[in-house]
Amino acid sequence: MTTLIKNGRVITATDDYIGDVFIDGEKIVGVGKTLPQTADRTIDASNKLVIPGAIDPHVHMELPFGGTVSSDDFKTGTIAAAFGGTTSIIDFAIQYKGKTFKETLDDWDSRAGPKCAIDYSYHLAVTEYEPRHKKEFAEVVERGITTFKIFLAYPGVFMIDDTTMFRVMQSAGEAGGMTLVHAENGIAIQQMIDNLVAEGKMEPKYHAQSRPPTMQADGVARALRVGEVANAPVFIVHVSCESAMNEIVRSRDEGNASFGETCTQYLFLNETYYDKPNFEGAKYVFTPPLVPKENIEPLWKGLKLGYLQEVSTDHCPFNFKGQKELGRGDFRKIPNGGPGVEDRLSLVYDGAMKRGFSLNKWVDLCSTASAKMFGMFPKKGTIAPGSDADIVIFDHNKERTISAKTHHMNCDYSLFEGMQIKGLPETVLSRGKVIIEDGQYKGTPGEGKFIRRGECAQL
Ligand SMILES: [Zn+2]
Repeated sequence: MTTLIKNGRVITATDDYIGDVFIDGEKIVGVGKTLPQTADRTIDASNKLVIPGAIDPHVHMELPFGGTVSSDDFKTGTIAAAFGGTTSIIDFAIQYKGKTFKETLDDWDSRAGPKCAIDYSYHLAVTEYEPRHKKEFAEVVERGITTFKIFLAYPGVFMIDDTTMFRVMQSAGEAGGMTLVHAENGIAIQQMIDNLVAEGKMEPKYHAQSRPPTMQADGVARALRVGEVANAPVFIVHVSCESAMNEIVRSRDEGNASFGETCTQYLFLNETYYDKPNFEGAKYVFTPPLVPKENIEPLWKGLKLGYLQEVSTDHCPFNFKGQKELGRGDFRKIPNGGPGVEDRLSLVYDGAMKRGFSLNKWVDLCSTASAKMFGMFPKKGTIAPGSDADIVIFDHNKERTISAKTHHMNCDYSLFEGMQIKGLPETVLSRGKVIIEDGQYKGTPGEGKFIRRGECAQL
């Protein structure tokens, strides 16, 4: 099966030209101004952008959390991702205490494998790392997983001690991999939570008050210092505020391999959302929480100048009805997370264009940088001969309104309800096969493949 995409404006992180893309089977085999080949199928992309499939490197499908499970499973979540132009995700396989790395990954494989509509991988979230785990660590890398996650938050659940932090960073660095850190001062935050509860402050907004930006900046600084002595690259996930970003900038200035991402919610929303009536603030309870709006433009500037490398979603949806409601009267019981995987490519397009970013930078932030940093470039993240034919034909002139009524995520609300944006992923190909077309999903769940990843580039 061959496919020819004709006359589109082809944008990668470096290219920008009107031309054609020729696909044979699952791979791109030719790109050029006017290709002479004829194909089994020709798609006219005139007046549209042709870009590499987006990569969301931070999602949580069907994740057990706080006595419930995130409402998108690997099927609904990856179909929604595809509608949004995302053709690869990286989820987090979380090691529960007492489980081996292998058991953890086998568990995630058994759920993701039969259901994923797009290609997928996981970061391994390590909660226990004793010297006896060292051999197993090498086997994880061998299996094609080169990124590891640690939590400096959620004491008693996922939080690790500094010994574990150091060991993970060192082993990941030696393997050419990367350590991702959820960086907050989990211990001080726990005390602030206890104080608020003692004062009877139980509304959703106190979730945000218990986790101030300063405690994120503190966690980031500490993680990067440990990474410095472990001589290993460190990637800070979900940076929500300027002070935390500035710690990354400082560390990079000192010559360290320090990197970070932010997420769509922090680029558009702010802490006033917690004041919504009727418990609606619970919709925005995720960690880190939304912060004062003064942080938004610095984050966009950080993306433009390369202080932060990419934009993810931290997609971890819970329905308002029946799930978020578990925390009525006690913010500690609100499951942490929100929906986002579907809207990222369009939201970042809209926000980036309004701020004068290049189209190349937009593609880099949504696809290429993640492919490079998480060890899957140039298989993913670009349009070039030999790369997987993960391609989005993007109608950049299409205007639309985001709403839970029309999204495909299995969640009864949208974080961006009513927001008017420009740009719609019109046709989406996953390894050469059209999976989204005419507003319909045309694929088969389970045809997404596990992505074996290699060494992580340091951008
Ligand atoms: Zn997350």
